Formats: sequence, structure tokens, C-alpha cells
Amino acid sequence: MTDLEKENKILKREFARLQQDLSMLSNLTDYATRLRNFNEEKVVAANNAKSNFLANMSHEIRTPMNAIIGMDEMIIREAKDTKINKYALDIRSASKTLLSIINDILDLSKIESGKMEIVPVEYESAAVFTDIENMTQKKAQDKGLAYELNADGNIPSVLFGDEIRVRQIMLNIINNAIKYTNDGKVTINASYDHENEKLHISVSDTGIGIRKEDMSKLYSSFQRLEESRNRNIEGTGLGLNITKQLVEMMGGHIEVESEYGVGSTFTVDIIQKISDATPMGDLKESREKQVLEAAEYRPALVAPGARLLIVDDNEMNLEVISGLLSDTRMDITLAASGDECIELMRKNKYDVVLLDQMMPGMSGIDTLGVIRKEHLADNTPVIALTADAIVGARDSYIKEGFSDYLSKPVMYEELEYILLRHIDISKILTKEQIEEEAAKGKSVVLVISDSTERLNEVKDMLGDRYKGVFVKDEEQAEKYLSKHDAAFIIRGGGKEA
Ligand code: ADP
Repeated sequence: MTDLEKENKILKREFARLQQDLSMLSNLTDYATRLRNFNEEKVVAANNAKSNFLANMSHEIRTPMNAIIGMDEMIIREAKDTKINKYALDIRSASKTLLSIINDILDLSKIESGKMEIVPVEYESAAVFTDIENMTQKKAQDKGLAYELNADGNIPSVLFGDEIRVRQIMLNIINNAIKYTNDGKVTINASYDHENEKLHISVSDTGIGIRKEDMSKLYSSFQRLEESRNRNIEGTGLGLNITKQLVEMMGGHIEVESEYGVGSTFTVDIIQKISDATPMGDLKESREKQVLEAAEYRPALVAPGARLLIVDDNEMNLEVISGLLSDTRMDITLAASGDECIELMRKNKYDVVLLDQMMPGMSGIDTLGVIRKEHLADNTPVIALTADAIVGARDSYIKEGFSDYLSKPVMYEELEYILLRHIDISKILTKEQIEEEAAKGKSVVLVISDSTERLNEVKDMLGDRYKGVFVKDEEQAEKYLSKHDAAFIIRGGGKEA
């Protein structure tokens, strides 16, 4: 064999080896890709499993919370003993905290699984600021902090965006400013950038501040700073994480400037489109309007004989909701399943139906399907009752054909509000009718005086226990006494005395 032939042989062998190595390498790359895909799938699956777990857990927790909050509400109403009443009020406050934690967890799981939706609506900007002020000012004042909310009058009066999330973002940073400030002041400034259609909010406090080295951890979920120092401050470390993600989903950003021991300023910019460019004006007017509305007596729901059907497979829920409504004098029927509901609706007419969603056997949506198909409730509002506290849930239930939506745990004010909206107005007693009925059976105190001052004085004195009948002089008094009885007669106080 010549040298050349030898070299050729060696080269061929080397070439074959190289080819072998190459195919091994390609196999390895294949393997690595498969492994990476497999790991990615596993990570995604694990993340989905976590999100589903959190969503299911918060759903499961809301159901017993319904019983706790509802039963507690009844104790608050019925307990005559102030000590017991105070315990019940403490339970109410702790339940609300627990509920807000559950809502945060639910929000986080929605964001992580990509199911969080931004639901834009038209809303009045002034109402948002006055509500936020009402919800936070007292908290600051109770801590001895000064509080100032300045909203620029040039902010458009009607904006278009996710109002609920805007409120959530503002509440979160303002509540933090109050929580992490022991002395001094919390200042909120709001303005609007017309060119970029952005709402600008800044919240400054003179609180404990944030250390430079902690800044990077500020937006991590479940991460709280200086745990030992802040042990007594309620929180989960979820608020700012959720806030940041919501702000970014709304095409905005959040920034913080802070000096440790001096205070912090959180600034948020979010895109909120203009619906009505008329300037919102001074908040004073909106505040006054709210005071007037609050002063206007909203009748408590008393609808004797209005027929309500409540459908829920959970006996405790039925007991809680019917118990909460016991003073309304409505005629309440309870059903424990979709089948039972349909049976009842085939025979009777109801003014409103509250229909639970998650029931074994027929779900709420299945039941509504039969109700609509058989025309059992063409003119009867059917309200979905559910433990899904998802934003946008109301719209999805309305799309399914429900008239409205009530989330569990059921809060009495919400329940009353929804029923007031859906029960035929002619069946609801007016303020005057309620007062008239309340006065019946009360002892009458006849007051004879021509002094308005005196009349007011006596009115205050009588309170709710007696019905005061006010006349100017003896002649009118005699006329009254010829037809009615009076337990007491009070004379004088005016010119006569
Ligand atoms: P938390 O539920 O703990 O308040 P957040 O996610 O809202 O959770 O905030 C994360 C952490 O950031 C808090 O635990 C707190 O240490 C710090 N922090 C938030 N806001 C302020 C503030 N205004 N001043 C000082 N520290 C703050």
C-alpha cells in the first residue's frame, strides 16, 4: 500500500468517525430539544395546576365564608348584649380582611393563567375620586394622619376604561401609604394627560420608606419587606404585584421614589380614554351631591307578600339568605336543586328567583335553560348566585340569560340593592308606609305648643318609642282627643308658657 493509499484509508476512517460523531451530536441536540420542550410543558402544566388550585381554593373558601358572614350579620342584628355585638362586629371586620386576601389570591391566579380581563366601561371620574376619598380618608384620620386628595378639575368628566381596576389600583397604593405611615401626611394628586389619554395618579406619604436594596423585591408576589418590623401590619405581599400587572395590562406604568425613614411616592399612569371631555370640575360639587344622596332616605326593603324563590343545594346558604331577608316580610320559598326549582316554577309565580350556579345534577345554567324553554319565567327576573368573584362575571351571566348576578358571600346591602332593583316597585313599601306602620301600636304623646324649637326638642326626646302628635293650641288638642287616645300630654314651651 502506497503512502497515499494509507493516508486515504486513515482519512476515510476519520471521516466515518466524524460522521458518527455528527449523527450522535444531532441525536443529542434532538434529545436536548425534546427535553427542553418536555420541561417547558411541565413548567407550564405546573403553573396552570397552581393557578387552577388557587382559583378552586378561593372558590371553595368563599362558600363557607357565606355562612360565616351571613350568620354573623344575624348575630349583629339580634344580639342585645353590647359585648356579644362587639364580638360579632370583630368577626365581620376579620371576615372582610379574609375576603380581600382571597380576592387577591384569585386575582393573582387569573393574571398568571392569562385569564385576567380588562373590562372597559364608561364611568364618571368625579364619582371614583369621591368614593376613594370616602373609603380612605377616615382610615388615615383614625391613625392621626393628615390627608389630602387633589384631583385636577380638568380631568374629563367621563372616562372609558376598567373602572373597577382603576379603583383597585388607587385603593391599593393609598391603603399602603396609610398602612406604612405612622406620622405625618398622605397626599394624593390626580391629573390627566389629554395628549396621551392617560390618567396620572401619585400618592405620597411621610412613612417608613423603602430601603434601596429592597426596591427590587417590591413587586414580587408574597414578598413583604422588613418582615420583622412590619409584623403587626396586615398584608400578604400580593397587592403591589397585582397592581403592577394591572397597570401594565392597561398600557401604563408604575414608579416609586422613596427615601428610607422619610417617605415614599408611588406614581401610576394608565391609559383611560375620553368619553366626555367636559372638565370634571371641582370635586366639591360631587362631594355635596353624594352627601345629599346619602341624606335622602333609601327605603329599607319591605315588600310584604312579594314572592321570592331561593335555589341552592347548600342548606346553610338557604338558611343564611332567607334569615337575612326575614325583616323584609317577603314570602320566601326554598329549593335545594334545579329539579325542585323547575317543579315549583311550573306551579307557582314568583317575583324574583335567586338561582345558585354550582349544584350537583342540574347546574344553574341548565336550570335556566329549562325555565326559558318552558316559558316558566318570561317576566320574572332570575338572578345568578355564585361564588365566582371574577370581574366580568356579571356580563357573562347576563349573556347566558340571567337578569343579574350576585356573588357569594352575600352581603346584605348588595342583596337588598339587587332586590330593590328587580322587585316590582308597587310591592315595595314607601318610606311613609313603613313609618305609618311603625307608628301603629306605639303610644301617642300629644304635644301642645306653638314654638318650633320646643317641638324639635320634644321630637328628639321621644325618639322611636313614642309617636308624637303635634298641635298648636288647646282647640286642636281637643279635636284630636275627641277621636284618639294619648298616653301623655305635654304643654307649653312657647308663648303660652
Ligand atoms: P402588603 O400586603 O404586604 O402591603 P404589597 O404588595 O402591597 O403587600 O407591598 C409589598 C411591600 O412593599 C410591603 O410589605 C411593604 O413592605 C412595602 N411597601 C408598600 N408600600 C409602601 C409604602 N407606601 N411605604 C413603605 N413600604 C411600602
